[in-house]
Amino acid sequence: MTAYPNLLKPLDLGFTELKNRVLMGSMHTGLEDRFWNIHKLARYFAERAEGGVGLMVTGGFSPNLVGQLAPLASTMNNRATAFLHRHVTGAVHDADGKICLQLLHAGRYGYQPLIVSASATKAPISPFKARALSARGVERQIGDFVSAARLARFAGYDGVEVMGSEGYFINQFLCERTNKRKDKWGGPYENRMRLPVEIVRRIREAVGPDFIIIYRLSMLDLVEGGQTWDQIVTLGKAVEAAGATIINTGIGWHEARVPTIVTSVPRGGFADVTAKFYGEVSIPLCTTNRINTPEKAEEILAAGKADMVSMARPLLADSEFVRKAQQGRSDDINTCIACNQACLDHVFQARRASCLVNPRACHETELVLTVAPVKKSIAVVGAGPAGLAAATTAAKRGHRVTLFEADSEIGGQFNYAKRIPGKEEFFETLRYYRRQIELLDIDLRLDTRADAETLAAEGFDEVVIATGVRPRTPAIEGIEHPKVLGYLDVLRHNRTVGGTVAVIGAGGIGFDVSEFLAHERHGQPEDKQMDMKSWQQEWGVSQDYSGPGGLAQAEPTPAARRIYLMQRKTSKVGGGLGKTSGWVHRNSLKHRDVEMLKGCSYDRIDDQGLHVTVSSKEGGEEKRVLAVDHVVICAGQESFRELYDQLQDSGLSTHLIGGADLAEELDAKRAIRQGTEIAAKL
Ligand code: FAD
Ligand code: NAP
Ligand code: SF4
Repeated sequence: MTAYPNLLKPLDLGFTELKNRVLMGSMHTGLEDRFWNIHKLARYFAERAEGGVGLMVTGGFSPNLVGQLAPLASTMNNRATAFLHRHVTGAVHDADGKICLQLLHAGRYGYQPLIVSASATKAPISPFKARALSARGVERQIGDFVSAARLARFAGYDGVEVMGSEGYFINQFLCERTNKRKDKWGGPYENRMRLPVEIVRRIREAVGPDFIIIYRLSMLDLVEGGQTWDQIVTLGKAVEAAGATIINTGIGWHEARVPTIVTSVPRGGFADVTAKFYGEVSIPLCTTNRINTPEKAEEILAAGKADMVSMARPLLADSEFVRKAQQGRSDDINTCIACNQACLDHVFQARRASCLVNPRACHETELVLTVAPVKKSIAVVGAGPAGLAAATTAAKRGHRVTLFEADSEIGGQFNYAKRIPGKEEFFETLRYYRRQIELLDIDLRLDTRADAETLAAEGFDEVVIATGVRPRTPAIEGIEHPKVLGYLDVLRHNRTVGGTVAVIGAGGIGFDVSEFLAHERHGQPEDKQMDMKSWQQEWGVSQDYSGPGGLAQAEPTPAARRIYLMQRKTSKVGGGLGKTSGWVHRNSLKHRDVEMLKGCSYDRIDDQGLHVTVSSKEGGEEKRVLAVDHVVICAGQESFRELYDQLQDSGLSTHLIGGADLAEELDAKRAIRQGTEIAAKL
């Protein structure tokens, strides 16, 4: 008996069978781009195959140079490269897995000067303008797709995924906004859809019947001038007739101003798009986006919304996701919290991807957790993200671990992150660590503030100090005024906040506190995510996904109070937030009329409110009095490391990690990585 009968059921594709309904969706990791990383890539996929995934898809490989995402980016265009890929396919097959190569032609999304598209247009996310292809040029691209599919077969892949969504090359041909052609590849929809249909048809002809062809169909473009529902259905049917084995769902162009995968998107929210398509074709349909637990995946499949579920980031977060589900150990899964901080944000900065909650992701051959040669007694002080990572990693390696936490619960600052509307997923990380503490028999001492004497008296072999950070109090005249609150007063002590409020400091915490204050429903730790229908209304997605691009007029809920969000810098407010999520945070607050002020110097706080001088880059200055009920300070943090200093002469072997080590630019990604790395060496 399993709790996930639909998820774990095999899927018969006729010529082959998948052992379950989990498809690991394509993710660019950065390991694809350089041939010398092939063994790392092989190990990365092999661990996921060992973890029981039914079918995996690689990151995107361009069929030619003009389709590359960036200069020298991953390409499948010669036999030598294909031969090298046998390391990957061999490792996956040895682990009884299956893997497809994704064929991704970037079109005008390429970050390189050779880019081509249906017409000469420039994407808002690339500095380069694409060159319009001639009719012969279009034929050449199709030929290159076919050659790349043949090479994938030569490399030992079980199939290919043709990337037809997310606003890439194929999607650019499908939509009038980017296809202005007058020849047989442009104009009416029958012409615009010719490119994907020809690509699939000719690939099938070239590779034969026993090779998987997944077609990633853009079911919701989420941009103006996008496809209508009827057009998408017509294309899906034509792609099936052309020889596709599976249709995977694509949601939203990269340039769309609607978030599709960040943490505030409700879990499994887009499964209803695939459900609407269900029954239009007879080949298996795969759904996707923000599905991160076996429970959610099972619920979707049981409701008959799709035949398969694509999860990408959740398999970065936990390579054993499927095996744990099979063994009924769902509470032992390290859940992806959809933060994007170590995966997508890295890729967009041309850095190797990893995972905030699992720093081993894409570093499987480098961050190796061996059994400790000598079993030691280790104290970890502080159960924030850094201490939790250190304690659980050390215990996994066989050490005896005691974890001290001054608070009554584990989590440190993560306990405040999880209270922000739209960041409810952060609960899951703490649930995971709580379970690991039980499973690994860690001696957790809550409500216990460790001191130097206790640590010395207990005779630990190693002491890891992860005492974290405390909020910075800026030197502003009137900082002692009763109007002034810290972010902990709001998020931890539930202090009542008035109808008009100024937030000083526009870093991640200033944004989060503003979001918290903008929502009426704040304050309850058991807050649930927004339901999808309200979310669609908020972001302007048509309730039944009809209309070009599936867009509708956005109707955001007004803010619960008047909010000013302020910083001293004259640069863009929120400019330092995550590359792929910062715009969502900014837009969410703009929807609620939060006034963002840059170039502020805080003159004083008194009964009238906050007196501020606002300077512009051009040298102008304006004095304002913001008649606020409260001023909430979110002005960064300082390391809290008195204990470490006290231990310096104790003779104990001590290690300093997380915010206690360095408060500047601290985030949970660094805290968890540092905790894991130190424990890997003890
Ligand atoms: P802390 O989380 O500060 O933990 C330190 C722990 O040590 C505390 O639990 C404390 O009680 C305990 N302690 C201290 N002294 C002792 C002692 N002597 N004995 C026993 N215990 C002791 N980061 C992100 O990466 N992404 C986000 O989206 C994000 N959102 C956030 C939102 C909010 C509202 C906040 C406040 C923070 C957010 N962060 C986010 C930041 C992230 O939570 C911190 O970077 C991270 O918690 C730092 O981890 P740490 O373990 O070093 O310290
Ligand atoms: P932060 O990002 O460093 O922001 C601190 C803010 O305070 C800045 O806006 C800074 O801007 C201002 N400030 C600094 N010193 C000040 C002073 N003396 N007086 C007045 N203002 C001052 O830190 P944070 O917001 O506290 O966040 C802590 C960490 O948690 C961050 O590193 C962040 O990565 C992480 N976090 C991430 C997220 C996320 O969504 N990814 C969310 C929350 C937190 P000026 O100097 O311009 O005034
Ligand atoms: Fe998920 Fe964040 Fe890890 Fe990316 S970094 S896989 S979004 S938890």
